[in-house]
Formats: sequence, C-alpha cells, structure tokens
Amino acid sequence: MHRGDEVFITKSGKYYHYFDDDCPTSSSILKGKRQAQRIKEDEAKARGYSLCRHCAKEYNEDLRERGLRRNANGEIERAGCGAAILLFGLGAGVIFAVSSYLI
Ligand SMILES: [Zn+2]
Repeated sequence: MHRGDEVFITKSGKYYHYFDDDCPTSSSILKGKRQAQRIKEDEAKARGYSLCRHCAKEYNEDLRERGLRRNANGEIERAGCGAAILLFGLGAGVIFAVSSYLI
C-alpha cells in the first residue's frame, strides 16, 4: 500500500513521498493543504529526489509488519517464517488445551 508506481513531489522539496498519511508531508498533501505533483517513483529518482525519511521509516515498518525485510541489495525478502510457524503452533496448542478443558 505504501509503495506505488507514483509518488508525490513538492515544489520546494528534495524528497519524494509515498501516498501515506503517516508522513506529515503526505498527510497535508492528501488533505489538500499542500501542492504536490504526482510522478513515477523512477522518474523522481532520476530527477535526483530521494525518499523522504518519514516515508522510508513507515515503509520499512510496514515491511516488517508483513514479515518482509530488505536484504543488502535492497531487495525485499520474506523474514521470520520460523516465528510465524512457532506462533501458529502455540495458538493451536492453546485452542487444543482450552477445548479439552471445556469437554
Ligand atoms: Zn514523506
């Protein structure tokens, strides 16, 4: 959801922003308080814009929430599969324990 093909750029800024109101700049753009232009992310990079640090932070947190992370090459990969399986196992164990108690 954070990452689309298009991003916002503001007239004065050096940074580009994702369409996400977790970023104060994007938030004011989305509310119509600030003028911005929509361009392709690749084009923004080509024009020398860099990703806003708020957007970068939110984007990385979003990836983590989904069990994804960026590797050293900046590629997105899945992380924490083991933890998910462990949690699932624990959940199933609790449900089993509760249902056998009720019976
Ligand atoms: Zn931003």
